[in-house]
Amino acid sequence: MTIRRSWALVLIFEVFLWSLAHGQTSERMTKQPADAIVTGMIVTMDGSRSVVDDGAVAVVGDSIVAVGPRLAIEARYQARETIDARGKLVLPGFINGHTHVPMTLFRGLHDDVTLNDWLYKFIFPAEAKNVTEEFVRWGTRLAAAEQIRSGITTFADMYYFEDAVAEETKAAGMRGVLGETFIDFPAPDNRTNAAMLAYTEKFLQKWQGDPLIHAAPAPHSIYTCSQKTLQDVAALARKYHAPILIHVAEMKKELDDSLKNNGATPVQYLERIGVLGPDVIAAHCIFVDETDRKLLAQRGVGCVHNPSSNMMLASGVAPVPEERAAGIAVGLGTDGPGGSNNDLDLMEEIDLAAKLAKITKMSPLALNAPAVVEMATIDGARALHMEKEIGSLETGKKADLIVIDLDEPNAVPMYDVYAQIAYALKASDVETVMIGGRLVMKDRKLLTVNEEEAMAKAREYRKSVAASLGMQ
Ligand SMILES: [Zn+2]
Repeated sequence: MTIRRSWALVLIFEVFLWSLAHGQTSERMTKQPADAIVTGMIVTMDGSRSVVDDGAVAVVGDSIVAVGPRLAIEARYQARETIDARGKLVLPGFINGHTHVPMTLFRGLHDDVTLNDWLYKFIFPAEAKNVTEEFVRWGTRLAAAEQIRSGITTFADMYYFEDAVAEETKAAGMRGVLGETFIDFPAPDNRTNAAMLAYTEKFLQKWQGDPLIHAAPAPHSIYTCSQKTLQDVAALARKYHAPILIHVAEMKKELDDSLKNNGATPVQYLERIGVLGPDVIAAHCIFVDETDRKLLAQRGVGCVHNPSSNMMLASGVAPVPEERAAGIAVGLGTDGPGGSNNDLDLMEEIDLAAKLAKITKMSPLALNAPAVVEMATIDGARALHMEKEIGSLETGKKADLIVIDLDEPNAVPMYDVYAQIAYALKASDVETVMIGGRLVMKDRKLLTVNEEEAMAKAREYRKSVAASLGMQ
């Protein structure tokens, strides 16, 4: 109530100032031009978590120039295009902090096995036989359609041929932190570590300064990369001020092996060899003790929680409430989509993150609705070290926003907006998506991806992938 009252005061004050300045000549006042105005109930996710019931966002170019009460914004700006979302929610776009988008083409390939078996018996062989640049392009297009439909505007990816992922992400108009994978065995794109380093350096150079694409190296994990590989990758990333994406403390076996081989937990090992820093994005962070959590917070590492994946592979439960309490930025990710989740629906992760924490702690207070909505937006941005650019609807940030329809049986009535987002609304309620001021979906119609073509290709790939593994 306080927030709404304060917005009402702002509105009265603005109208007062405006009438003082313009008196009876208001008709002749020149409004400032804007490219778009989006009206609706604005859930800003700004520092005071303001919600503007009858609000608007004004956009110029790829950025937000004003957020506030609709009447005040409409009095100040003349927009080329108005997206009338009155009666609907307007939110910052969701941030998928960890995934492997080309793996859409392996969706459902082999489920219900352990992570170790899944990786070594199924996924690594399937990748060796099937992953080409063309495969990666089609998988990324399919994933772009799926992610945009569920309100994701930014995603962090780790895969091979990441330059092709970047080109397709850019073509789809999405924002991406895209990591080229390093692994100490021949990968589908680069057979040796030297080739991986050369490919990634070119990749980092190519995308420097791009408004949508943040190129990065992604050492797979401490159990698939030697100390030398990890250190070489960190040095390369730091030369180009690029982030480092890595899986950290995902499996019990990873912790046990690290204690045995390195005499330290995965986090403390990464600290000892100089990898931890404010540019690291660590997926999972399940097996992290109190010392690890302090280190992650001190070093400014972003963590990404993947509840579906962790449940599906029975990896364990990340201590998210403790991580947040330690001051770590914890975002949310879908992981997958092949074998460790099977879809790219971040709204499902919002819901599951809260419920997984509640059941684990046997307390419904463990993680609440505002917290998980933060994890999908502003904290997700912090975890990717992009909070100055995205994660909330505020003046000066990128115009990455989504409109969610409230005219659905599962969306009414609404008493609490955060609880509605976390527990009642679905990805299919997302209606319109704007990324960097550009509409990529309007009224549920995709504008930048040919999804029919991508789906047809996915069905074709199903045949060749199955044949390569001797399946039907
Ligand atoms: Zn992963």
